[in-house]
Amino acid sequence: MNEMTDCLFCKIVAGEIPSTKIYEDDYVYAFADIDPKAPFHAIIIPKEHISSANEITAENSGLIAKVFEAVATIAKQENLENGYRVVNNCGEDGGQTVHHIHFHLLARRNLQWPPG
Ligand code: 5GP
Ligand code: ZN
Repeated sequence: MNEMTDCLFCKIVAGEIPSTKIYEDDYVYAFADIDPKAPFHAIIIPKEHISSANEITAENSGLIAKVFEAVATIAKQENLENGYRVVNNCGEDGGQTVHHIHFHLLARRNLQWPPG
């Protein structure tokens, strides 16, 4: 079994594990976090498997741009005019638990800074 076939978020993209879709285009999928840390908590991922921020290269960084285009689209779609936070956790100290790069979009509460 390779990294992709064993990846939770690749399975969510493939529809093998159900999720609540928030946004989708050819490159990006966004869905509701199963354990939300804010009243609005979306997980935004490139459909193509990239393990973490450490694996972003000149060849695949266009997919990360697509993720941030999706952020702006979702913010309008969900009326997040009060603001929001985008978070990427990378590696052990960053708290990354799913090894398919993902961006948390958190909103609808006053988010503290710095985070814990
Ligand atoms: P990380 O800690 O890696 O930055 O974030 C992983 C996120 O994925 C967590 O916020 C967690 O709640 C979410 N998550 C883990 N498993 C599932 C799942 O099966 N479905 C959904 N929708 N979210 C998940
Ligand atoms: Zn994956």
